[in-house]
Amino acid sequence: MLNIVIFGAPGSGKGTQSDRLIANYGLFHISTGDVLRDHMRRGTELGNTARQFIDRGQLIPDELMIDILAGVLDDNREAAARGVIFDGFPRTIAQAEALEQMLARRGTSVTTVIGLEVDEQELIERILNRGRLTGRSDDTLETAQKRLDVYHRQTSPLRDYYRERGLYHAVQGTGGIDAVAARIAAHLATLPKDKS
Ligand code: AMP
Repeated sequence: MLNIVIFGAPGSGKGTQSDRLIANYGLFHISTGDVLRDHMRRGTELGNTARQFIDRGQLIPDELMIDILAGVLDDNREAAARGVIFDGFPRTIAQAEALEQMLARRGTSVTTVIGLEVDEQELIERILNRGRLTGRSDDTLETAQKRLDVYHRQTSPLRDYYRERGLYHAVQGTGGIDAVAARIAAHLATLPKDKS
């Protein structure tokens, strides 16, 4: 079973490459950002709480986020048993530790972490472009800069966390969607088939 963490700064292409992976590998996709935005659209209590963090470019507190992820895994037990692509989670060391435990309880583990690497100027351009196309409330210049700062402080330490575990695989995230997807596919092809 493949459990893939797709990792990278905001704007690095996690969602786009996740879509490719779902199509090609039949994995269950969990995007914590999409889960939160769905709650915001529906105006749930969680959505209203999440909005206060998201629109400031801040992370949702770990405890809440870990509960949300556990809930999604529980609600989709069968689909998740085929393998999951985790998009936007974990974003902190505490979340990574919680994920390890959650998967261990289900008799599985993270197979690989794909780190999409894109330089800062291109990240900003992509985020602003997405904001223009989708109207996403956190895709403004001010919030994008805050999110990048949060990424550097709270999320990028996960690279070393996963490197130490031999799970981190960097992929150049530029040069077109197909080219990036091909680099990811080439990496996945090197993984032992029975690794779970
Ligand atoms: P994304 O769509 O992954 O870029 O997430 C958008 C926003 O949702 C982030 O800037 C955070 O405010 C929040 N968010 C998504 N995933 C997480 C997470 N794993 N931990 C904390 N906050 C998150």
